[in-house]
Amino acid sequence: MPNRFMFSGRSHVPLNSVQTALRDAIQDKLDKGYYKLEDCHCLCGADDDVIIAGTDRYGFAINTVICRSCGILRIDPRPSRGVLKEFYSREYQDLYWDAEPENISDHFRAQVTGGVYMKDFIKGHLNISGFRGKTVMEIGCSAGGILLPFLEDGADVRGYDYNKSYLEYGRSINRGLDLRHGGIDEVKNTGERFDFLIMNHVLEHLVDPKEAVQTAFNLLKDGGILYLSVPSIKNANYYKSHDKSYLGSLHIAHLYHFSRNALMSIMDNFEPIFVDEKVRGIFKRSPGKKAEKFPREYDSNIRFILWRENSVSGLISRKFDVFLYGHYFYTRLLRAFKFLPKRWLSRFTF
Ligand SMILES: [Zn+2]
Repeated sequence: MPNRFMFSGRSHVPLNSVQTALRDAIQDKLDKGYYKLEDCHCLCGADDDVIIAGTDRYGFAINTVICRSCGILRIDPRPSRGVLKEFYSREYQDLYWDAEPENISDHFRAQVTGGVYMKDFIKGHLNISGFRGKTVMEIGCSAGGILLPFLEDGADVRGYDYNKSYLEYGRSINRGLDLRHGGIDEVKNTGERFDFLIMNHVLEHLVDPKEAVQTAFNLLKDGGILYLSVPSIKNANYYKSHDKSYLGSLHIAHLYHFSRNALMSIMDNFEPIFVDEKVRGIFKRSPGKKAEKFPREYDSNIRFILWRENSVSGLISRKFDVFLYGHYFYTRLLRAFKFLPKRWLSRFTF
């Protein structure tokens, strides 16, 4: 892999002062052994890996390996369950979201837009008219914006997340949003079952995704539906928001990277209704249904990653400065763009 995939101590994405301080504090916990890492095997059971990166986009000293049998990527050694609980409760959102207070409302609005899309996506594939009277649970709901369109459609909604300020914001927007502190273990402990379960970009954060899928099975009523999505190894569009590079998508919280086929290989007791290469899927609870065999995607995944790394748009975005060209007035006008809020400029990136 390219040299920049090796540890150098520097970040590969721009960090604000809050993010930089957090990154340094977390690396310090790793260095001192307060944040413990543990060795792990691939989900397919093989123990034959190649290291593809010795760092992530924030510059943490962590290894991402690829399994030479199935092609699933994972962090190894990885943070333990105890470390992850503290990390998600106290550090993750601020490290991830380029945190500024006003961004919570932007984030909530984006979640609502995503929720409208998800609701129609599920309705279309299941051919149902709506969610009236149904129970909808989301694990990893953040501020709960995805649940709002389901609530407005008549569903009884509940969400769990570790970030208290995001939960509080969602509750302040709509009291019908039942948002609680915790993760998959806390949902399991309620002993309740639901008609619909949403795990949107959650599975890749968990130490044992296979166990999480079976927990999802136990949380659903008979015939219940699981909406599951994970960032895909082979979804080129995903990398547009990550510096157009594979390294940009690697971070300490992504313990696994799946393709569509890799996800299908851990879905015991679920019947796929629809799954694409993005990877997002709708699965029906189906006791006894066997998952597909693990794929053999080492070669094709490596080819994709190198193609992504060497794409022209990625090279331009990472390696070249922007040149300003024009007469005095136009140059001053162009330079003014750098003083605009970052979220405005992000609309013009390609
Ligand atoms: Zn494997």
